[in-house]
Amino acid sequence: MTSQILFYIIIAIIIVNFVVDKILDALNAKHYNDKLPKELEDVYDEEAYKKSQKYKATNYKFDLLTSSFSIVLTLAFLGLDGFAYVDQIARGISENPIIIALVFFGIIMIGSDILTTPFSYYSTFVIEEKFGFNKTSKKLFFLDKLKGWLMMTILGGGILALIIWFYQVTGTQFWLYAWGLMAIFTLFMNMFYSKLIVPLFNKQTPLEAGSLRNSISKYAKTVGFKLDKIFVIDGSKRSTKANAYFSGFGSEKRVTLYDTLINDLEEDEIVAVLAHEVGHYKKKHIIFNLFASILLTGITLYILSLFISNPLLSNALGVDTPSFHIGLIAFGLLYAPISEVTGLIMNLFSRKFEYQADDYAKNTFKAEPLISSLKKLSKNSLSNLTPHPAYVFMHYSHPTLLQRIQNLKK
Ligand SMILES: [Zn+2]
Repeated sequence: MTSQILFYIIIAIIIVNFVVDKILDALNAKHYNDKLPKELEDVYDEEAYKKSQKYKATNYKFDLLTSSFSIVLTLAFLGLDGFAYVDQIARGISENPIIIALVFFGIIMIGSDILTTPFSYYSTFVIEEKFGFNKTSKKLFFLDKLKGWLMMTILGGGILALIIWFYQVTGTQFWLYAWGLMAIFTLFMNMFYSKLIVPLFNKQTPLEAGSLRNSISKYAKTVGFKLDKIFVIDGSKRSTKANAYFSGFGSEKRVTLYDTLINDLEEDEIVAVLAHEVGHYKKKHIIFNLFASILLTGITLYILSLFISNPLLSNALGVDTPSFHIGLIAFGLLYAPISEVTGLIMNLFSRKFEYQADDYAKNTFKAEPLISSLKKLSKNSLSNLTPHPAYVFMHYSHPTLLQRIQNLKK
């Protein structure tokens, strides 16, 4: 194997990945105007359905444009030895491998973020705006970006610095220490994300006493679930799209409801959505996902440790002096097909879990309000009711609306 061949393998992976993705998108788009199945005929009225079709077509075209731009840019960057160029800049600043790596990733991340910002700006302020979803102000949009960068610098930079330090001290054994670090970080984030990170972006207030809170407490009692931490988040300051999620475990477990969800749904429907979330908890999906992701991280880090010292990785990207950060980039590009497969497997599990959580809500509460809430949420986000099965298989973390309704009616 020469570095030249490895370079072409990387290029081939990027192109094949892109082509497969675009074929799936096109297949999916061909079914945007299918006749709706009987169970879904009442989701949209005539006008809203037309609007949803327009929304899907607009997003399809826009995504084709952005992803084409991004692949052309990536290939050009690789073809012009861009990574070698950035590596040189970073090496001009310091001789410390950790600082070099931090500067290197800093330039790559901020560079690519600046290039993609016009697209996300257009998506938010033109497309989402046109279809009535956007509530973000321009000031908030850029403030979010700034906070995102800051968080990335502190958390991402800190973790990267530690991992490279492990590599310097322990050689290829670094993966074990890196794994330990990532495992602790993942657990910590799962426990305290809502307490530490969410407040940087949103306001969360405990759900006020009243009829809704009573209904929720009443339900929680029937299934023996201690649910005293129910928060309402001001999702409406960015978008009209609604959501609800569960986070943490043990004494830190809490449910977060978007204010938009509370606006859109009836009390019964909100309790049904909550019952679904409680189902995820009771069926141990949260713990499963946590450990699966820690396990996957361990496997990935182990495979990385087998290759990271090989100068071939750096040479493939046109860099003569091997280093951890260049090796990491090359590895990341080569690993893409494997992470596609693991992502697919995680989606399979996730869709199975969604059925289980729906069943839980049906058995401990009622199916009807869950069905009507899913319909309302689909309508309000103009979601696609007729996705292509291959697209669902590859990309969907949830079963389709039709599948969920059929399962709930069983
Ligand atoms: Zn779910």
